[in-house]
Amino acid sequence: MFKTVKRIIHWTGEYKKRLYWGFLWSFLQTMFTALPVMGAAWFLDSMIKDSRGESTMKPVMAFYALGFMVVAIGGRFAFSYLRATFQESIAYEKTAEERIQIGNILKRVSLGFFDRNDTGEIAGAVTTDLSIYEMYAMKMTDIIIGAYIHVAAMILCLLFFSWQVAAVALAGVLCSGFFLHRMSCSSHRNAITHQEAQNRLITSVIEFVRGIAVVKAYGQEGVSVQGIRSAFFEHRKINIKIELDYVWCNGLHQLSCKLASVGIVFMSAILTMEGEMTLPVFLMMSVFSFTLFSQVEQVQNGAHTMQLIETAMDKLEAIKKAEFIDTDAKDIRIEHSDICFSDVSFGYGRRRVLDGVTFRIPQGSTAAVVGPSGSGKTTICNLLARFYDVDSGSITIGGMDVRKLTCDSLLKNISMVFQNVYLFHDTIENNIRFGNPDATHEEVIQAAKKACCHDFITQLTDGYKTVVGEGGATLSGGEKQRISIARAILKDASIVILDEATASVDPENEHLIQQALNELTARKTVIVIAHRLATIENAEQILVVDSGRVVQKGTHTELIRQAGLYQRFINIREQTERWSLV
Ligand code: ADP
Ligand code: MG
Repeated sequence: MFKTVKRIIHWTGEYKKRLYWGFLWSFLQTMFTALPVMGAAWFLDSMIKDSRGESTMKPVMAFYALGFMVVAIGGRFAFSYLRATFQESIAYEKTAEERIQIGNILKRVSLGFFDRNDTGEIAGAVTTDLSIYEMYAMKMTDIIIGAYIHVAAMILCLLFFSWQVAAVALAGVLCSGFFLHRMSCSSHRNAITHQEAQNRLITSVIEFVRGIAVVKAYGQEGVSVQGIRSAFFEHRKINIKIELDYVWCNGLHQLSCKLASVGIVFMSAILTMEGEMTLPVFLMMSVFSFTLFSQVEQVQNGAHTMQLIETAMDKLEAIKKAEFIDTDAKDIRIEHSDICFSDVSFGYGRRRVLDGVTFRIPQGSTAAVVGPSGSGKTTICNLLARFYDVDSGSITIGGMDVRKLTCDSLLKNISMVFQNVYLFHDTIENNIRFGNPDATHEEVIQAAKKACCHDFITQLTDGYKTVVGEGGATLSGGEKQRISIARAILKDASIVILDEATASVDPENEHLIQQALNELTARKTVIVIAHRLATIENAEQILVVDSGRVVQKGTHTELIRQAGLYQRFINIREQTERWSLV
């Protein structure tokens, strides 16, 4: 727990100074809380001495005492206010920065990072985990550090009157601290086992529910229930263990505090009887003994929250450690858009997906990539956009190796349209404007007109201001595709990559999409992965890919005369297209 607090303090970075100021205000706040009690004790002492005739008390003393109380209470509120203003906004400011920082990191890692890490977990880290941080990190630090500052300040006050009583209080704090430490160690140990048991439980329940039809069909309820039962049993066992570990540590922690309170009263009583302590000071000590540990006693409630924060911090740190793909790259403007692959080999894991791929696409020309499913067509596009880096060979654009360019400066030159379109949960206008955030409303409309989507957009109730559902659910596939093309037209990049952009739309939409694509690709350097004969035939160059190799290269008229994959491919296409027209 104390380690987590240390980590949180470290995490606050440049805000650390404000945090420390907050601690100082917190210390002064406690001091000012104790002052009225001390003042009352002093006043009582003077009154008793006065009644015994040992000294005389002037009436004006009452006003002094009142003034003292007012100052003490005022000071307490002032320091409490200062502490809040210095500390409380730190978490919000820091998490906002952290979100942007993680966004920037994710933009620059290779897409392989997302293959290796569960996307749900990454999204969770940025949303839930950072929110836990935002909500609790400062609050818990404040509760824990605040509690110890409170105790330290109070012990200092006690020390002023009697070192023996202060020593008893200190012993109580140290004992309780020891048990709290034991508690957080065991909660840390149990958290891992608990997480594993939880995961096993979820997996076996999902498996049971998914497989229920099979289970019923084969009359095997008994067998499949066994897995769930043992997962439940294990879950129960670890929960009971957590509770038992918690109970005894917490009990001893509370006991230390209570015993120390009793010890303070007892020690003060002895000192009073021996005449070393006056009666009012004894009364004051008794009052202090009630409030001294009140905050430390609450600290154990934070143990679980601190564990959550610890886990969240681990996840965020793992993301921050991700390697950038473009660490050594520079922001460079590309003048030409000739694309050149030289002997490129690549594999996602150990398995080779591309092997010795070499081709050149001159500026302003179109290359169609054809080949069977899984042959590596999409991979070629992924490498060009530097979603991954090649294993060997090189890819250049305008003579510049893509590895020398930062992702930002490279992707400025590339527009991509995929088969699966992703639209953000935002207005249609903003979805199009994503291609160029500086574009005016007029420019957005121009792009939409070119992409054949102006008509259907204006027919929607809110026009360009219509909010698209999560992932674009409220529009048809063809409409979404045209919006994504409008986005690409607005971006106006010199290289266009089309990956099966028309593969899954109906013929009527295909016609409109084709028209939109013609607008997009005019005068651009284009790589198109396509099935439509017209698109393939019109390309200046056709690359036939099979099992990660470019097996044929040339124009349609050249390739159709050669016996080979392309000829077979075209024959099949012709048959299906004729068939679909009938
Ligand atoms: P195509 O676009 O020609 O259908 P791809 O380039 O998508 O083929 O895929 C080529 C091969 O690489 C396939 O065998 C596919 O299973 C594999 N592959 C594609 N993406 C990944 C990935 N992210 N991780 C591992 N293997 C992948
Ligand atoms: Mg593909």
